[in-house]
Amino acid sequence: MGATTSLCGLLGSRREPLGGDAVAPEREICCDYLVVGAGASSLAFVDTLVEEMPSVRVCIVEKREAPGGHWNDAYDFVRLHQPSLFYGLPSRQLEGNWLLSFLKFQKPWFHRATKQEILRHYRAGVRSWSRAGRAQFYGNCEYDFARTPKSADGTHYFTSLDTGEEYSVKVSKKLVNGVEYEPLIPSKCPLPFPVDKEVTVLTPNDLPATRKRHPHYVVLGCGKTGMDTVIYLQRKLGVDPKDITLLVPNDVWIYDRYPRVPSRGPWDFVHKYLECDGDFPRTCLAMEAQGLFLRFDETRMPTVLRHPIIDKKELALLRRVNMVRRGRVSSIKLGVGKRSILLKFGSDYLPMTFRENTAFVNCCSPGPFNGHRASLNSEDVDIFDSKSLITLYIIFTPPASLPSSAIAFLEAGLQKGTIDLEFGRDLLEDSSLEPTEVLRRLFHPWPIMSKNLKGVVNPILNMALFLALAHRDCREVLRWLRSSRLSLFSMPMYKSGLWDAVNMMLEKKGNLGLTDKEERILRKLVAKLEPLRAV
Ligand SMILES: Cc1cc2nc3c(=O)[nH]c(=O)nc-3n(C[C@H](O)[C@H](O)[C@H](O)COP(=O)(O)OP(=O)(O)OC[C@H]3O[C@@H](n4cnc5c(N)ncnc54)[C@H](O)[C@@H]3O)c2cc1C
Repeated sequence: MGATTSLCGLLGSRREPLGGDAVAPEREICCDYLVVGAGASSLAFVDTLVEEMPSVRVCIVEKREAPGGHWNDAYDFVRLHQPSLFYGLPSRQLEGNWLLSFLKFQKPWFHRATKQEILRHYRAGVRSWSRAGRAQFYGNCEYDFARTPKSADGTHYFTSLDTGEEYSVKVSKKLVNGVEYEPLIPSKCPLPFPVDKEVTVLTPNDLPATRKRHPHYVVLGCGKTGMDTVIYLQRKLGVDPKDITLLVPNDVWIYDRYPRVPSRGPWDFVHKYLECDGDFPRTCLAMEAQGLFLRFDETRMPTVLRHPIIDKKELALLRRVNMVRRGRVSSIKLGVGKRSILLKFGSDYLPMTFRENTAFVNCCSPGPFNGHRASLNSEDVDIFDSKSLITLYIIFTPPASLPSSAIAFLEAGLQKGTIDLEFGRDLLEDSSLEPTEVLRRLFHPWPIMSKNLKGVVNPILNMALFLALAHRDCREVLRWLRSSRLSLFSMPMYKSGLWDAVNMMLEKKGNLGLTDKEERILRKLVAKLEPLRAV
């Protein structure tokens, strides 16, 4: 499917996207918001925006044919790591019908959507906005960031990847960049080191269709994709664990999917990190002692946390295979006489030899956050960049969906004049600031891969700022969070501990390295959020 329709006059000549009758698209478009990317980040933003601003007109431009972002190219056996309850579009359930689940003796809060369920969810959302005349989807089209106009009234451009035709867009409000966390996935990235062409290299996407059974599988990478692959090889393909080698460059901490104690997911880690003054090993061991964290080998201290979630049965399967800890692979070459394969590591480790018909499964693409500048240090990165640009960075957890929805709620509040600007100006001690400037200066992305204490606890500050600013009455914001299926506040009896956490940040101001101004901001937040101290 190619590009779709014109938004000038919105309901003008329209081609029904995602499976309707084709109408030739117009190439000069007008809209209020031009959203680039149609993954989890962008679509949660659009969903909230159209809900909060009933007459808004949105144009979505996406390089891939269909909405759903990287899930379109994911391996077929992928599922969400986390419950479906908190992922996707705020306006539609991803976990399916609760009554049907109960009739099948399944608990909807444990549902983890498959790739197909996720893709159907996003397609249904885009289709409904399109039919209601709220948003138009231009699939197989690439937005040209290099040509983003310098002035708010400039013209934006995107190109159809089918026909090469160029589209121009007049945007009355903002460009929304939803592509910053586009994950690099194995099916789209070749191995980043030399590999002889005779060697069999598969991606997880190849496994379900591979008829030929290999005598040995070497899984390259121990992130969530590597873990899924080892489990799939054993459970679905019946491969004996002694015929699987998992390369573990660094041991990783893993969230227990079904902990025996109540869990707030990554919030637990953020709060514990503050309690432990930013001591990474101590925090992780405390999480483990509480039954929230798992690791491959209890005699080895992991150094990495990338927030994967698995259950104990899956961990048991992982522990059955050969784990090799020799750092990162540097090459895969055929041995002398082509009867063996030589796997080389850095200079500190000896190479390993495998039989010539071994299959190597590429699970070593860095995923969503690694390497992104905002994932390590986000001080210089802006979300509310200017009067004409928003960039969808993660501001708190659970990642991807809720943060983008919250940014849309703030943006709608900015447009409607319902956010508490005076309070924002008071926090920043400058009564002359423009509304966008207030949001730009206050909200910074969560540097999700950082170990710096101030960076790790940034979701506490962002959630407090969100509750205090998104409406003059913080109880209204709480009501919104409670009504959003993406938010943990929607769980009955949920206790966030947020107010106490902001107070703890004040107690630990020395360890956090807070400036006097930052301390004053926290004190004002504590005062404004007093009505929410028990939530
Ligand atoms: C295997 C796997 C499992 C995961 N499981 C979970 C999970 O359970 N829970 C969780 O919270 N997160 C999970 N994640 C993290 C995941 O990255 C996010 O949940 C989320 O899907 C990322 O969405 P996104 O919109 O930021 O990126 P994407 O899904 O990549 O969407 C960005 C889109 O932008 C498009 N694009 C890029 N540049 C342009 C351009 N110039 N013009 C037009 N379009 C463009 C891309 O084609 C892409 O479709 C998982 C990631 C992976 C790889």
